[in-house]
Amino acid sequence: MSYALIVAEVRRGLFEERNLDSIGICSLLEKDPIMLIPESDYSVNWEALSGVIKVKIEETQFLNPLNMVNILGKVIGKRGKPDVIIFTNSASGAELAAYTAGYFDLPIITDVSNYDKEQGVFYKSYYSDKIFGEFKPSGDGSFIITVRSGSFKEYVTENGTTPSIETIEDITASPVRTFMEYVEEEKTDVDITKADFLLSLGRGIGNKDEIPSYEELAGLLKAVISGSRPVIDKMWLPKARQVGTSGKTVKPKVYLAMGISGAFQHIAGMKDSDCIIAVNKDPEAPIFQYANYGIVADIHKVRDKLKDILKA
Ligand SMILES: Cc1cc2nc3c(=O)[nH]c(=O)nc-3n(C[C@H](O)[C@H](O)[C@H](O)COP(=O)(O)OP(=O)(O)OC[C@H]3O[C@@H](n4cnc5c(N)ncnc54)[C@H](O)[C@@H]3O)c2cc1C
Repeated sequence: MSYALIVAEVRRGLFEERNLDSIGICSLLEKDPIMLIPESDYSVNWEALSGVIKVKIEETQFLNPLNMVNILGKVIGKRGKPDVIIFTNSASGAELAAYTAGYFDLPIITDVSNYDKEQGVFYKSYYSDKIFGEFKPSGDGSFIITVRSGSFKEYVTENGTTPSIETIEDITASPVRTFMEYVEEEKTDVDITKADFLLSLGRGIGNKDEIPSYEELAGLLKAVISGSRPVIDKMWLPKARQVGTSGKTVKPKVYLAMGISGAFQHIAGMKDSDCIIAVNKDPEAPIFQYANYGIVADIHKVRDKLKDILKA
């Protein structure tokens, strides 16, 4: 049977939205989507799937690659080889995919963000979407892909039927690696996901001493400050302010990005904002492809001008 095996991404019993991208690409690949998932009560509409394989194993054990290859071995034993095994391109998805590819000696294409159905070509981005690599799996056997969040969910189609459900029970968890704990995110007073207006700062601000002046602008605009990852990594802003794949997903009414280039990891976290305004001195910056309004200028000059206008 021709099918795609989707390895689900779950955290603390919750079904991650990025699984929709793994389901969506199955429509383009024209494969029956069968999802492998640790057994739990998820609040999910399963109608986009042909089948669900529930695994009686702790979620944290499911994330262990040493267990995953055993689970996949059982699925293949029962159903035959899938045409493609699909993982998310998260940290854990990429780890599981790489180990699985090595273990079963399968070709792997990571971080797939587009697929050309006619050519059978997968695309992945380099240099913040400035160029794309084209890949085809070698041979005509099974292969593995990891799928970039936000790339394929628009292709999810519900077939209106309840999927078949199977259960895998007898997986012995490997003693070789022990899960310790999920580390709680640091709590802050501000929740950037609730803000109507975000003033988001990127590496282009130059240094930490510039932050107070942007905070003053945020006050005048009645905006909340957020930032790109380098600004958080340099500890210019707290972690809870980070927008992007390893930060928060935000959908404000206005997203004003200053000195942010528009790497896909950032775009994935803010592209659904109602209105995106980007200020960048580089007219080729990828963020302009997503912006409703763009200003090619020095951000500090724009900041000072805006402050003058708002104070007048
Ligand atoms: C696994 C992984 C997860 C990641 N997660 C995230 C994430 O969650 N969020 C995130 O943001 N990134 C994330 N990244 C990092 C991401 O790839 C980019 O490196 C990052 O988004 C770049 O941040 P930036 O745009 O602020 O900096 P840069 O890419 O360095 O861009 C700075 C921009 O400022 C402009 N600029 C400089 N000076 C001025 C000036 N005076 N006036 C106007 N413009 C100016 C430049 O032209 C440039 O476009 C992740 C990366 C990896 C590998």
